[in-house]
Amino acid sequence: MAWDFETEPEFDAKLRWMRDFLDREIIPLEGLPRHVQLDVDRMDEITAPLKEEVKRQGLWATHLTPELGGMGFGQVKLGLQNEILGRCSFAPRIFGVNAPDTGNAELLAEGATAEQKEQWMQPLLDGKLRSAFSMTEPHTPGSDPTQLKTTAVRDGDEWVINGRKWFTSNGSVADFLLAMVVTNPEVEPLRRTSMFIVPTDTPGLQIVRDVPVMSHPDHQTGEPGGHTEVVYDNVRIPHALLVGGDDGVGQGFVLAQKRLGPGRIHHAMRWLGQSRRAFDMLCERAVSREAHGGKLGEKQMVQDWIAESEAEMRAARLLTLQAAWHMDRHGASKSRVEIAIIKFWGAKVLFNVIDRAIQVHGALGISSDLPLESMYRAARAARIYDGPDEVHKVTVARRILKGYSEVETPSEHLSLRQAAAQEKFGDYLVRWADNNPL
Ligand SMILES: Cc1cc2nc3c(=O)[nH]c(=O)nc-3n(C[C@H](O)[C@H](O)[C@H](O)COP(=O)(O)OP(=O)(O)OC[C@H]3O[C@@H](n4cnc5c(N)ncnc54)[C@H](O)[C@@H]3O)c2cc1C
Repeated sequence: MAWDFETEPEFDAKLRWMRDFLDREIIPLEGLPRHVQLDVDRMDEITAPLKEEVKRQGLWATHLTPELGGMGFGQVKLGLQNEILGRCSFAPRIFGVNAPDTGNAELLAEGATAEQKEQWMQPLLDGKLRSAFSMTEPHTPGSDPTQLKTTAVRDGDEWVINGRKWFTSNGSVADFLLAMVVTNPEVEPLRRTSMFIVPTDTPGLQIVRDVPVMSHPDHQTGEPGGHTEVVYDNVRIPHALLVGGDDGVGQGFVLAQKRLGPGRIHHAMRWLGQSRRAFDMLCERAVSREAHGGKLGEKQMVQDWIAESEAEMRAARLLTLQAAWHMDRHGASKSRVEIAIIKFWGAKVLFNVIDRAIQVHGALGISSDLPLESMYRAARAARIYDGPDEVHKVTVARRILKGYSEVETPSEHLSLRQAAAQEKFGDYLVRWADNNPL
């Protein structure tokens, strides 16, 4: 079956516009003092005209279908857009496609009631509300959500939530959390959880802290981009905020999976944008720095890094576009292997390319004068969030192994090949032996 990643000229023009807009208007935001970059209100003020321009270009919240006010781009085009936006961490928010809001809007589009969509999803899409996704817990393995411990117990027309979550990204600046909690502990594991909309001003909801992490070790609670620890202490939520209403009971796992498929493609394409930016720095340094009688770019070891990086990025790009194409054609649930492959492969390529770019810059590479050191620290987490590498590799390997059967003797063993040849060419061998007596 042919793969086709071609895009029409009008869309190519939009991609060019986005590239130019990023260079001209968004990447310069990185030069602002850090306290301004981290102040939600000030950044909203500075970026408001940029968001308006994006909306005028018809490029706002492109992940959703036209009925929901998006452009209905599909995954290939979204991937290409995210590749451009990935170059700068400010860009996704300015285009209304930032995680976790995109995934959360997709989850609500998929599973919420009409009233929930109107009250929570639409303002989220319009950029008027911020959200967070609250699944992972400190004391249970996030890679195995069948073990979640936070519970919601029905009490009349309300649910009472108790438990502790962490790494709820953006939780401390969110207006509401989508909390995945256990509602049916007795049933089979994949039907135990449900998803709740939890407004962050609900009594009993405690924002404990934003957990400092290697990408932001000096992060202060309440700054955007934090990974929040949250305690649910008898948090009472009306039944109307159970995602999907009565039909939503037991749907937590299914909804979480729907949320993660497209998100992983967008991550992988954003990583390519980051990788390319690091690669450009690598090459610029290679043609500029002179050592041991020649430019670094003339040394074969540096040429090896350049060639390996280019090959890895091209391979990752093709794999990701193919996964996006597969998803557009066959849907997320039939693209699990494709998505799992790009999740661990893309994260590795990102890390490799940034690492080589740092190496070619020597001491400058690990200094904060260049963005490489912070890109490197952020890249490490890519191997963990949205499922660690190992879990994705298990998915791929299990699916592949389903295509094989157990045998007593390896099918390629000489004895079996000789037996097959005897059966197929027996007559010929007899004739040959008759004509060639020993
Ligand atoms: C930057 C960042 C942002 C995040 N944002 C969010 C968010 O917004 N909302 C949210 O709910 N969560 C979020 N998370 C949490 C993330 O989803 C979890 O960290 C992840 O699912 C792994 O869970 P865990 O940390 O509990 O590790 P564990 O599940 O304890 O796994 C630890 C390690 O065990 C190994 N392992 C696990 N399973 C297997 C296996 N089958 N075979 C071999 N080895 C295995 C892996 O090496 C894995 O890294 C975020 C995490 C990070 C780092």
